[in-house]
Amino acid sequence: MQYLNYFKNKLQHLLLRPIRVFVFHQTSAEFDASTMWSCDWTEISAFKNRILNLRKDYTFISLQDAAYHLKNDKIRSSRYAVLTADDGWKSVLNILPWLSEQNIPLTLFLNPCYLDDVHKQERDTEQLLTYDEIREILSKYPSVSIASHGWDHKKCLEMSDLDFEENIEKANNILIQFKGFIPFYAFTFGAHTPYQVKILHHHHLIPVLVDGMQNYAGTEVIHRECIDNS
Ligand SMILES: [Zn+2]
Repeated sequence: MQYLNYFKNKLQHLLLRPIRVFVFHQTSAEFDASTMWSCDWTEISAFKNRILNLRKDYTFISLQDAAYHLKNDKIRSSRYAVLTADDGWKSVLNILPWLSEQNIPLTLFLNPCYLDDVHKQERDTEQLLTYDEIREILSKYPSVSIASHGWDHKKCLEMSDLDFEENIEKANNILIQFKGFIPFYAFTFGAHTPYQVKILHHHHLIPVLVDGMQNYAGTEVIHRECIDNS
């Protein structure tokens, strides 16, 4: 069985070009230590150069289109890449016009909890997009979609299964009202339990990870790489 899986994987790798899904967090001209983490920050021109370099080899497509290809392709000769951003930082506005000019779709993974001022103390909401900004982005840039990063940014491993389920349901109830919502969920801080993956599937959400891996076939989970490591 192990050998069979080995050869199946080898064959898949020969027939299917991987789809690479990238994630970034903050992009700005200068690093601001009071509102940013160095590991989550990319300088704007470096960000643009990475995208342009990737575009020499890859065609950027939306996350939904990538999921379609991963589910249906038997052979994939094109090289596809996908761009996503986590947390909904306002600094995404620094590169949205450019991404739109370049025809590069983007998926934003959001925590609806921080889209208003109610939970200001919990996170630095000054730096996070608001409801109105999300609405404006979605009407101005039709190639932007939004997906779930949970209700708030709690660690998945610190939540009971019940808490986790309530957390994603609460997020979905808000996010589903936006026309650009797509059914994907990116785990906060990455670590999670196998049962949480099952809960997401039960809610028809595709789990999205950051594990540095590329995607060949299937939509059980979507693997992502940090844009800085590309
Ligand atoms: Zn996050």
